[in-house]
Amino acid sequence: MPFSDGVRLQEAYGRAQAERFAFMANNIAEPNILIGLLEAYAEARSDLLVQISPGAAKFAGGGDKRSGLRALSALVRELAEPYPIHVFINLDHFTAGETDLIGEAIADRLASSIMIDASKETFEENVRITRAVVEEARGSGILIEAELGKIRGVEDEIASDEALYTDPDEAAEFVRRTGADLLAISVGTQHGVSKGRDVALRVDLAARIRDRLAENGLTAPLVLHGTSGLLPEQVREMIGYGICKLNKDTHYQYVYGRTAAEFYAAHAEGILPPDGVEDDVVNLFAQGDWSPDKKTFDPRAVGREIQAKVREIALALIEQAGNGGRTLWQPKEDTV
Ligand SMILES: [Zn+2]
Repeated sequence: MPFSDGVRLQEAYGRAQAERFAFMANNIAEPNILIGLLEAYAEARSDLLVQISPGAAKFAGGGDKRSGLRALSALVRELAEPYPIHVFINLDHFTAGETDLIGEAIADRLASSIMIDASKETFEENVRITRAVVEEARGSGILIEAELGKIRGVEDEIASDEALYTDPDEAAEFVRRTGADLLAISVGTQHGVSKGRDVALRVDLAARIRDRLAENGLTAPLVLHGTSGLLPEQVREMIGYGICKLNKDTHYQYVYGRTAAEFYAAHAEGILPPDGVEDDVVNLFAQGDWSPDKKTFDPRAVGREIQAKVREIALALIEQAGNGGRTLWQPKEDTV
């Protein structure tokens, strides 16, 4: 059963905390990135965590978030089946406006964990919203991730840069009062939080938050968003300070776009009609001497290139996260 629930994911995070490695949480919105990831993670013997954001669900559903979420979740669960690793699904940045979808995801076990992001609300409102989702998920085997950092939109007034960082005391109070399983913290990475602003990265803050949680008997793994721009040594430092989940969205989007751009630039002559040939897409150039080359315009041609490149980059990122060879999957589990 390669798609696995939050109980097993909790176990995986526990091991990550004890052995100082992390999970990259990889966003998907279509099959090519997913297939590249599955190939890489199976080869590296590492469990795979993929994420579905509301925006990805809306895209995959042709504008219908609900059907897109169900379709992407089913795609992951079906494709994961033959791979000898655990594959986990996290719902990324779901908000209080999507409580119906969250409820459906819990009821139908569409994910292993769900992030409820109420970080833009006041502290008390964030506590109230997060706690309600934690209570709804109780007993389902689905973990709940929440986010805390006095984050305002880029245009909003921010009293001081200090307000952009998660406060360790508030973090402990927040986890205690909400019962959240994972906590996303703000230490100055460039994601929503600090876009367009130069906020200093404070890696030590992760360690202070982890220590403050531990002093309060709390073991919630810490999550870092917006990690695509981090250097490998910064990633390793963060993991050493207790970060167990690093969100990767932008990185694979670039790999996708870059691979497609290079592929189409190299094969443009098989796809674009040359000078003097009438542009006749409607009739697919049936009347002229020139015909486009199916070997290059078939979406599967570029798709295979994208899958291979994602696999290559994922293997490098698994190296950074340190989770190669650490899958919890054992062949026997299939028969249990
Ligand atoms: Zn995020």
